[in-house]
Amino acid sequence: NKQVVLKDYVNGYPKESDMVVTSDATIRLELPKNEGGVILSKNLYLSCDPYMRGRMNTTSKGRYTSSFTPGLPICGYGVAKVLESTRHEFNKGDLISGLINWEEYSLITNPESLMKIQHTDFPLSYYTGILGMPGLTSYVGFYEICLPKKGDTVFVSAASGAVGQLVGQFAKLSGCYVVGSAGSKEKVDLLKNNFGFDEAFNYKEERDLDAALKRYFPDGIDIYFENVGGNMLDAVLCNMRLHGRIAVCGMISQYNLNQHQGIKNLVFLILKRIRMEGFLVIDYHHLYPKFFEMILPLIQEGKITYVEDTVEGLENAPAALVGLFSGKNLGKQVVAIAHE
Ligand code: NDP
Repeated sequence: NKQVVLKDYVNGYPKESDMVVTSDATIRLELPKNEGGVILSKNLYLSCDPYMRGRMNTTSKGRYTSSFTPGLPICGYGVAKVLESTRHEFNKGDLISGLINWEEYSLITNPESLMKIQHTDFPLSYYTGILGMPGLTSYVGFYEICLPKKGDTVFVSAASGAVGQLVGQFAKLSGCYVVGSAGSKEKVDLLKNNFGFDEAFNYKEERDLDAALKRYFPDGIDIYFENVGGNMLDAVLCNMRLHGRIAVCGMISQYNLNQHQGIKNLVFLILKRIRMEGFLVIDYHHLYPKFFEMILPLIQEGKITYVEDTVEGLENAPAALVGLFSGKNLGKQVVAIAHE
């Protein structure tokens, strides 16, 4: 049973060598005899998510998830198939999504986070992205926090990623003008040609982010969907319109810093009467049914597309995970361990 194990706590930028792919020979492909409530799963798809970096820190202070344990497999959202089960909610052959260990097979004793996949006529990997945690995040952040109106001007950072690509498409469906930033020409092309962003720019090529935003938003920004923090946030604050809304979803530019960067332009929150609100998707799991009601027909009718970047095999999983922090992923980063 191949596993991805964290070697030790991480300081600064994570490296592939912070994890090791090992083989654990102790797992048996059958359930322990006299143990109740266990699931044996064959793991299919793993999700690489930026929040997992926080779990590599030695302390969980100020975080909403506990640290990973060095020497043990890391875990994250994923999709699996039930091979055997003594839990009444899950049966052999069920497809499930939720938190699973980064390993080929798992014995799951705490299935609280697991959901049975009801709609199996979509690519199963979608449950790590558009139909999973990142999808719900974009839905909650955009509709519940940003409260969009037709004609609003919307800016999305890290716009080509798992969350950002959906926010941009939701903004277009809501009749908004939407601009995205991303870190390469290929990503900028994707934003404009695949996801229908009105404009997009490569933030790495802009010496002056304030000037770049003024170019695309001469009359200012009504909604900022924040994924990166740092200098981008500072530049956006100067370009917000009166009564603008900022949904603070993530600040990936800060996750590997020992000391977070200071923000200089917060005074605009007052001057422009801006509402800036952070949120965590874990508080909104009750909205999954409402979200599915909206998103499933949109996918079926081809009104929403979703781009994934899939690597094959657990051997390539550590590189895929750390690649999030240098922008290697083009779309949602998925690891395929097995295709059923
Ligand atoms: P992505 O798929 O967008 O992958 C991360 C991307 O971030 C990279 O591809 C890279 O794109 C960009 N990036 C990396 N480092 C930097 C940097 N220093 N400055 C600017 N951009 C950078 O990730 P997700 O869509 O899964 O997540 C997006 C954000 O949403 C993250 O901040 C994440 O933590 C947050 N999040 C929050 C949740 C919540 O509940 N609040 C839930 C899920 C996600 P590029 O090439 O464009 O630089």
